[in-house]
Amino acid sequence: MKKASLDFLKALLEQPSPSGFEQPVQEVWRRQVKKYADGVRTDVHGNAIAVLNPKGKPRVMLAGHCDEVGFMVNYINDDGFIYFSAIGGVDPVIVSARRVKIFTDKGVIHGVVGRKAIHMMDQEERKKVPEMHKLWVDIGAKDKKETEKLVAIGDPIIFDTGFQVLRNGLAVGRGFDDRVGSFAVAETLRLLAGKKLKAAVYAVSTVQEEIGLRGAKTSAFGIDPDVGIAVDVGNASDHPDVDKQKVGEMKLGKGPSIARGANINPVVGKGLVAAARKNKIPFQMIGAARATGTDANVIQITRSGVAAGLVSVPNRYMHTPVEVISLDDLDNTCKLLTAYIIGLSSTVDFTP
Ligand SMILES: [Zn+2]
Repeated sequence: MKKASLDFLKALLEQPSPSGFEQPVQEVWRRQVKKYADGVRTDVHGNAIAVLNPKGKPRVMLAGHCDEVGFMVNYINDDGFIYFSAIGGVDPVIVSARRVKIFTDKGVIHGVVGRKAIHMMDQEERKKVPEMHKLWVDIGAKDKKETEKLVAIGDPIIFDTGFQVLRNGLAVGRGFDDRVGSFAVAETLRLLAGKKLKAAVYAVSTVQEEIGLRGAKTSAFGIDPDVGIAVDVGNASDHPDVDKQKVGEMKLGKGPSIARGANINPVVGKGLVAAARKNKIPFQMIGAARATGTDANVIQITRSGVAAGLVSVPNRYMHTPVEVISLDDLDNTCKLLTAYIIGLSSTVDFTP
């Protein structure tokens, strides 16, 4: 990945973005796309929308959600410890004994998710997964009054972990799901800028995907596209403990996955495969036997129907603070979307 692109990805990852609190990351996204889009706006729901060639045909929407899973301050007890609820699906087993950041009106407050030491647990307690509502954040305050001076009910919380490059072009970070999607749609717009295009291209950094695909719903209605492609992460199956007979095969470094199934318009699905083949971009196929849990789900059933597609970046350890992806897969995702859109004619018929 080129340095300028990597810097943009890191800038997106640096911002906290639990569902409902996405505007810091949207600001970074807008600042970037402004350099090459024909227009950038934010809708009332918080989706950031950049357009290229707005008078073109067909109208193509690319959706990458910028929100991530996280937590929210729910209750402060008399001793000043903070109880929280999860924003999106977080595995409770990975939550305790972590450093966290709380984003407050007074700035970032650092804390840890406390856990009773092993010495104080009986045999049964050692085997148990703690329930989310029994975990607490300790900011070092001496009582409720001190915590309340700094932290308010409803403040968002994220794990305090950073981006790192591992071996073989793999990288680890918090919130690749789905910063890589909002990154890819912005990068695709950059790669398309200045090219001869028939299509109008709307790149959308959508909000609130993790709590019910909500931003894609409002933005797709507003944009009213002919084609809508969601760019998300997909669960890789190339690590221990995964049953490929159940979930299929997806490997890091083998290219983005192109989905097939009821949630995917066959003309779009085949068009993506053809674009990948023609441009020698590696890709993997993934079967989706039902509506996917991605923005493609709601985009497809917007208004009287939109031709939907789904391109995913393989991801290990999704929804944890140590998600792992291949930076080459991410580059190839942007190349695939770019090649597909350049190849679109204005008369393409998406009727299955
Ligand atoms: Zn997710």
